[in-house]
Amino acid sequence: MSLLPPSLTRLIENFQRLPGVGPKTAQRLAFYLLHVPEEELQKFADNLTNLKKSTVLCTMCRNVSEKDPCQICVNTSRDQSIICVVEQPTDVLSIEKTGMFKGMYHVLHGSLDPLNNIGPDELYINDLLKRITPNVTEIILAVNPNMEGEATAMYINQQIQQLTVNSLPLTVKITRLAHGLPVGGDIEYADSVTLTRALEGRREY
Ligand code: ZN
Repeated sequence: MSLLPPSLTRLIENFQRLPGVGPKTAQRLAFYLLHVPEEELQKFADNLTNLKKSTVLCTMCRNVSEKDPCQICVNTSRDQSIICVVEQPTDVLSIEKTGMFKGMYHVLHGSLDPLNNIGPDELYINDLLKRITPNVTEIILAVNPNMEGEATAMYINQQIQQLTVNSLPLTVKITRLAHGLPVGGDIEYADSVTLTRALEGRREY
């Protein structure tokens, strides 16, 4: 029988389900929260409660937003003809921070990872394909430079090649970010200078 009160055990289990949190860290976080003042803890709980309630996924780009469509998709001064495909909403933040990209985004919410049962249907790839009309001239595949990212880029590239308009193949330039991003690293953690160079030096797929 566990010596811990059930509410604490449940909280530890909750933390353990978070990415990158092992049993020890989960325990440490739960015990830490025991010492946090009630008022602060309530704010934390409110944020958790409202997380899903006050956010939606933009129906166009699938980015996390408070409004649908999101503020990037409704911004008419942005270039609608370029779509930058990223794995996570945090990648949008990193690229926006460079200030050099003025096109649109599409967020996949992950990458192909067969070992963990993440196939094309688990990502927003079909939504991306639907957005590629003849008005779109370039798709930047800004996926992470690791195995899953490569597999995702390859798959999307194949799918785009099969798109047709009036039974003619759709001509859209597909580009990848330039090398210089640390291999195996995440776009999210790349500094703005590296990311700007990678965007500027993007090459055709
Ligand atoms: Zn959007």
